[in-house]
Amino acid sequence: MTAHAFPVAHDWTEPGLFTVAPGVHRVPLPLPTDGLRAVNVYVVEDGDRLVLIDAGWALDVARRQLEAALTALDAGLPDVRQFLVTHLHRDHYTQALAIRRDLGTRVALGAHEQPSLAWMHAGRHPLATQQERLRAAGAGPLLDRLLAVLPPPAERSPLDGGYGYPDEWVADGTEFELTGRTLTAVHTPGHTRGHLVFVDTAAGLLFAGDHVLPHITPSIGFEPAPPELALREFLRSLALVRRLPDLRLLPAHGPVAGSAHARIDELLEHHRTRLDQCAAAVRPGAETAYQVAGLLTWTRRQRALDQLDTFNQMLAVIETAEHLDLLAVQGRLRSADLDGVRHYEPA
Ligand SMILES: [Zn+2]
Repeated sequence: MTAHAFPVAHDWTEPGLFTVAPGVHRVPLPLPTDGLRAVNVYVVEDGDRLVLIDAGWALDVARRQLEAALTALDAGLPDVRQFLVTHLHRDHYTQALAIRRDLGTRVALGAHEQPSLAWMHAGRHPLATQQERLRAAGAGPLLDRLLAVLPPPAERSPLDGGYGYPDEWVADGTEFELTGRTLTAVHTPGHTRGHLVFVDTAAGLLFAGDHVLPHITPSIGFEPAPPELALREFLRSLALVRRLPDLRLLPAHGPVAGSAHARIDELLEHHRTRLDQCAAAVRPGAETAYQVAGLLTWTRRQRALDQLDTFNQMLAVIETAEHLDLLAVQGRLRSADLDGVRHYEPA
């Protein structure tokens, strides 16, 4: 056994190609303006071709970094047979479409992402639903600040954003046969309604996308056409993956981790605690999701709501509304809509 007295701290966002299992390599690509900092693309060898799980954000710097990483395998983008994309967020999907435009590479995406893509293709603002939800959460002041920093809808063509349709809509349970490997798509709604994880049971690998992340809790239902009760779907999807064999966690953001089960247990515990905190916070004067979010703390640094940037305040208020709505469905709170704003009270 080798002991390293001074282990070198490795930053998971450092560019390169990192082999994480035989024939499987992690390639972090940059997200320059995003707090997540990077997204992992997983390069899976398939005979003399490659299959990529997620693709990164369609940025020149990300494209160059992906090409540079593939040279470590004596390969290039023309060797990529297919993209399997976990969900429609721009940091996972848009570079697949940009590369398809240039090279004709096939792109697969979860079938249940279709409503959100259709929403954008209908020319509707991708954040219109979130604005509605903020209004219902009583977050008028936050909504005003958000609208001030967002470009108006007319300047946001869905196609400019790279939101074309995939070549293949992937149904739950679809098996992708690679050379010496089967990847099974498992529908895990919650982060988005069509989110997929890809499971390689024989190799003990879970390509988790944003469903299970090692350091942060994924946002819930942040998409153009979210379902009712996205949090309930997310918790069910966590339980679903918890019933699979324990697999190594290959997340889209953060380093590879040993046990998907261990992290899922932490996430389930987090949301149990969060539901209790939300239930306990509801009282006269703290009746809306916006008011309750202001009583909670956020991120691992326990920040107050108004210490977050506007975008993350929006995610925090929406997440609070998701918890309160689930509590109402569970009978732990009562809710009533007054003038377009949802009010909660103890049951
Ligand atoms: Zn992501």
